[in-house]
Amino acid sequence: MKNLKLASRDEVRQTVIAVGEVAFGRDFVVIAGPCSVESERQTIETAQAVKAAGADMMRGGAFKPRTSPYSFQGLGLQGLKILNKAKEETGLPIVTEVLDPRDVSWVAEFADVLQIGTRNMQNFSLLKEVGKVKRPVLLKRGMFSTLEEWLNCAEYILSEGNPDVILCERGIRTFENYTRNTLDLSAVPAIKELTHLPIVIDPTHSTGRLSLIAPMSLAAVPAGADGLLIEVHHNPGEALCDADQALTPDRFEALMRQLRPLRAFMERVPD
Ligand code: PEP
Ligand code: MN
Repeated sequence: MKNLKLASRDEVRQTVIAVGEVAFGRDFVVIAGPCSVESERQTIETAQAVKAAGADMMRGGAFKPRTSPYSFQGLGLQGLKILNKAKEETGLPIVTEVLDPRDVSWVAEFADVLQIGTRNMQNFSLLKEVGKVKRPVLLKRGMFSTLEEWLNCAEYILSEGNPDVILCERGIRTFENYTRNTLDLSAVPAIKELTHLPIVIDPTHSTGRLSLIAPMSLAAVPAGADGLLIEVHHNPGEALCDADQALTPDRFEALMRQLRPLRAFMERVPD
């Protein structure tokens, strides 16, 4: 793919990014947690539940990119402090979104992985800032973006000196409106052909439908994904953001049980 220097497949075989006890590109990493941090109780209860079910990392937004300026925007610094308490309680590393280039350096102090959301994929000043910090970056695919545009955004981060970029396919906009977006599962093997960077699937924002989250999570394993990012809320009815698509801890636990034999089977399949 033209213009790619550092992200291109022929540079290295597979980038491995260690976070806590797991490594993207080596293990199948499951990141789970609420859309947004709403309170200490909500965050810690959800963190404990996803940990008990076998999640490797915890997610939660303290800065939320909402369509309406009147919707809940996140708790900011207070939310990051709550995430750190949840990490103390559970040991789970934290994935959290940063929206503003001015916030990158201090948000990085609270985060184990910085998330760039779909709406900011081509926010080039933000990409340059996260390229300067020593934290892995989870770069979501822009909902209107091609693979080439997406990989060029990864290149922005790599070219600033940060080698640790994890790609996240979260669905793209198509004419189909039964689902919130269209999950491009073919992006997984395509990305494996094009780059050495790990790729995870977000079955939550791509489908926007509770009934489709488990089947798409399971499909991600044989497709070759390096992990999943899934929204879970201890009481979805009360969620301030994305209430309709959050799994309950029970449903998440059932999904983790279904995933286990599939992951083990894929690990036994020789190259
Ligand atoms: C999120 O993961 O919290 C989020 C806002 O997702 P996206 O950027 O994919 O819409
Ligand atoms: Mn969400």
